[in-house]
Amino acid sequence: MAGQARIIDGKAAAAELRAEIAREIATLRAATGLAPGLHVVLVGDDPASRVYVASKEKLAAEVGMNSVAHRLPAETSEAALLAKLAELNADDAVDGILVQLPLPKHIDTAAIIDAIDPAKDVDGLHPINAGRLASGKASAATLLAPCTPLGCMLLLRQALPSLAGLEAVVIGRSELVGRPVAQLLLQADCTVTIAHSRTKDLAAVIRRADIVVAAVGRPGFVKGDWIKPGATVIDVGINRSPDGKLVGDVDYAEVVDVAGAITPVPGGVGPMTIACLLRNTLTAFRARRG
Ligand code: NAP
Repeated sequence: MAGQARIIDGKAAAAELRAEIAREIATLRAATGLAPGLHVVLVGDDPASRVYVASKEKLAAEVGMNSVAHRLPAETSEAALLAKLAELNADDAVDGILVQLPLPKHIDTAAIIDAIDPAKDVDGLHPINAGRLASGKASAATLLAPCTPLGCMLLLRQALPSLAGLEAVVIGRSELVGRPVAQLLLQADCTVTIAHSRTKDLAAVIRRADIVVAAVGRPGFVKGDWIKPGATVIDVGINRSPDGKLVGDVDYAEVVDVAGAITPVPGGVGPMTIACLLRNTLTAFRARRG
């Protein structure tokens, strides 16, 4: 047994990031009279989405943004949602637009994401922003990358003095988490492997890693004997266990004894996601207004 891993406190890191954003917005307001405007669009009444939208609205207001939530009925047509986005795209007071996913089944999610002005796409999911990230040419000051991957990177940078040259294994290749986090790790000069459901001998692949990012969606999937002693483990998973508790994709009880540092669930990556949404909104504001 290598002893207990250092626990990476995402809750504290997110609070610190929000406080830093609040200070920057106060300075901007004092200098220009302007503050970033974040508009979140919710279609329907999915209970989890309602909770997410309410906390995004509240935290954006707390840091001093002009925070607006547009709650539309579940039967809203795709055409009506596109019209709403056209209105927000054209409104100069709107710096960031986020459409809460998942959308009702009768709406084509890709068509909706494509319709958001890439300069206001604070979820970082528009193909233009995904392309900029993949090209490796966008500057960190203007890049709108997906929020959860950005949060993973901030936690990694806090946990490790340098990322350059480290072996990173990302488990999962979703558009929302796996792919963008792999691109960000590559940009940070890691040697990156993306594993997925067809990867052969996953345990052996993971054992090479100095950094493991688990974004699988399977409770307790990553086992202690898959981890190189001292590795840094970022657990993106949010799963509900049969007893109702939130658990990650990593078998925390096993991995905490082997890893050098680990994010808990809850209190790890989760809180960083909204903080990074606020950061992206500030980035979009700055980029749009010079
Ligand atoms: P997803 O779209 O379902 O993707 C899951 C990925 O895991 C897929 O690429 C899949 O491979 C891979 N996978 C599934 N079974 C596997 C196996 N046995 N071995 C290796 N790879 C396997 O999920 P997601 O949206 O990326 O989310 C992943 C997790 O993160 C979920 O628990 C989600 O709730 C959580 N999440 C958390 C936050 C946050 O704020 N903390 C944000 C977003 C998501 P294939 O591509 O081959 O199918």
